[in-house]
Amino acid sequence: MEEKKLLGSGGYAFAKVTKQEEAKASLGVPQIFLSNIGRLNEDRFTKYYCNNCTKQYPGSPAIVYENPNEEVGQDMILVEKGEYRCRTCNDIIALYRKFNK
Ligand SMILES: [Zn+2]
Repeated sequence: MEEKKLLGSGGYAFAKVTKQEEAKASLGVPQIFLSNIGRLNEDRFTKYYCNNCTKQYPGSPAIVYENPNEEVGQDMILVEKGEYRCRTCNDIIALYRKFNK
């Protein structure tokens, strides 16, 4: 695994990701988006930056998620929705949605 910068709407994080995760989340562009990566174990993160605090923190942002298993379209299930939040100001660093088709 390699340490990569993962971009979010409210900041960014550095985490160790596999080649497969990187390929899946970058969609052919050089940037990797946290919202495409989805949920990673907290121990994969080394640090994160919060735009609201304009500050970098060690470790992982707080990860809050739920599993609604809710049908959102034809044969499409919202399996998980989650948020990465700053541990200091609680602002959202990134949101993600996982669907099962
Ligand atoms: Zn913050």
